[in-house]
Amino acid sequence: MKILIAEDDTMSRLILKRTLEKLGHEVIEARDGREAWAAFEREDVPVLISDKNMPDMDGLELCRRIRAQNRKKYTYIIVITGSDAGKGFLEAMDAGADDYATKPFVEEQLAARLRVAQRILRLQEEIKQLIIRTCCYCGQMLNEQGQWVPGDPSVDRFRNVALSHSICPACWEKHAVPELEAYKQRRRTEAAS
Ligand SMILES: [Zn+2]
Repeated sequence: MKILIAEDDTMSRLILKRTLEKLGHEVIEARDGREAWAAFEREDVPVLISDKNMPDMDGLELCRRIRAQNRKKYTYIIVITGSDAGKGFLEAMDAGADDYATKPFVEEQLAARLRVAQRILRLQEEIKQLIIRTCCYCGQMLNEQGQWVPGDPSVDRFRNVALSHSICPACWEKHAVPELEAYKQRRRTEAAS
């Protein structure tokens, strides 16, 4: 995955970068919140790992800005902190973070957290595809395999859902074709009179 890291401490940034690259990820480095924001504006970033305390723009402000943008592609945000002062977790969650961790990182834990990130991002993609087309007659949905399947009402629970209305082949035959025929018939009758 492409991972943007926002960390002002050079040593921490280097260690994190090495660890992520060892895990097979592509890393974009930012030395503070402002640089990270610039990188985020340049390209889609699936995962952001941001230090909470940074000069200029801190990790929480960065979170808020990213969430306020409401981009099509979701960015999974992990906020990290050097010392867990207690309310850090709540602050991070309120700012829009998905996960919160304290430094230093244990490689296995970081790998596990990123697997969660991957799972969430995959779900986001699946939801997007599921909602792309639904039949306006019967409510069925077109799945990834190109099959029309019964509509899943739970999809409505997700935010940012935009159902795109379509017509499944069965309803096309059953409803749309007769309607079209009736329309053509009307036009013929009108033309004849
Ligand atoms: Zn249908």
